[in-house]
Amino acid sequence: MIPSLCQSCSHVREIVSGKGSQFFLCRRSTTDRRYPKYPAQPIVRCAGFEPSKEGEQGESV
Ligand code: SF4
Repeated sequence: MIPSLCQSCSHVREIVSGKGSQFFLCRRSTTDRRYPKYPAQPIVRCAGFEPSKEGEQGESV
């Protein structure tokens, strides 16, 4: 996958579908309409970016 800010952002939730497709869900979208729920990737600049701590994200569905 192309590197994206979302990958290291504390506001992202990684979604992996049953078919193995990966999506980034921006949790800022729930409180701020400027952010799309599923931002078009890759994100190279984002005013809402905040670095995450290692190991806090990742979820399979
Ligand atoms: S705030 Fe920006 S960098 Fe962070 S998950 Fe949302 S779109 Fe991606």
